Amino acid sequence: MFDDLRTKTALVTGAFGGLGRHFALTLAGAGCRVALAGRRTGEGEKVLAEIRSGGGDGCVVRLDVREPESVQRALDDAAAQLGPIAVVVNNAGIAVTRPALDQTDEDWTGVIDVNLNGAWRVAQAAGRQMRDRGKGGSIINIASILGLRVAQQVPAYAAAKAGLIHLTRALALELARFNIRVNALAPGYIETDINRDFFASEAGEALLKRVPQRRLGQPRHLDAPLLLLASDASEFMTGAVVAVDGGHLVSTL
Ligand code: NAD
Repeated sequence: MFDDLRTKTALVTGAFGGLGRHFALTLAGAGCRVALAGRRTGEGEKVLAEIRSGGGDGCVVRLDVREPESVQRALDDAAAQLGPIAVVVNNAGIAVTRPALDQTDEDWTGVIDVNLNGAWRVAQAAGRQMRDRGKGGSIINIASILGLRVAQQVPAYAAAKAGLIHLTRALALELARFNIRVNALAPGYIETDINRDFFASEAGEALLKRVPQRRLGQPRHLDAPLLLLASDASEFMTGAVVAVDGGHLVSTL
């Protein structure tokens, strides 16, 4: 079903660790050439080595989504090395967890700049490339269930992800005429290296009791939704928000 990915190039932001690394490996496993974009390129080389050892192909490009020139350079560099980019995964993200009244202006602007402005910069630059090539494309914004409902102590993160979800819809509307699809993937709580200890703690276990499926998601739970949105199998889907959360969004009030 996802065979078209074998001929495509994808670019993943924040691809050197966490979910970004997983998304890159998943796309490579489906046959995509994958441009791994991020700041510490030495780390990226390790992920590229993993892709190559699995028989895949890709490259590493330097990208800081806070810098517009870096975004343009990364996209140009990736296309020069691997061919035109057909799939973009806007994954780079940060969070500052602290009570709202204790957050600084830097906390707020830093989170908005990476999670919302950064995704916008990448989507706009990639959209221009895709339009100029004339063969369409798929942009996947990694949002969060916190863009649809709220939790304590992450006001900027929740606002940025809500903004990213609405940006997804605005771009889907405007780019449909170029056959560019823009969708959002909204994960619930997914286990990664940085949150494993928290979810093993009492507070983490209490939180998971509020998830209808009563468990933490695994990165592999995002694989099929990611490949679906990336591939032509979802050719009639655009502006959609796909939640993968064990039912967390429908938890009882
Ligand atoms: P992570 O911190 O492990 O990964 C984030 C990545 O973004 C890192 O590789 C980091 O270097 C990169 N990054 C940060 N600032 C950047 C910048 N300025 N330029 C380029 N890259 C930058 O976190 P993660 O859990 O893997 O999260 C990945 C994405 O998934 C984020 O957008 C996050 O909001 C989203 N998400 C995660 C979960 C979860 O439970 N893990 C749930 C919902 C949404």
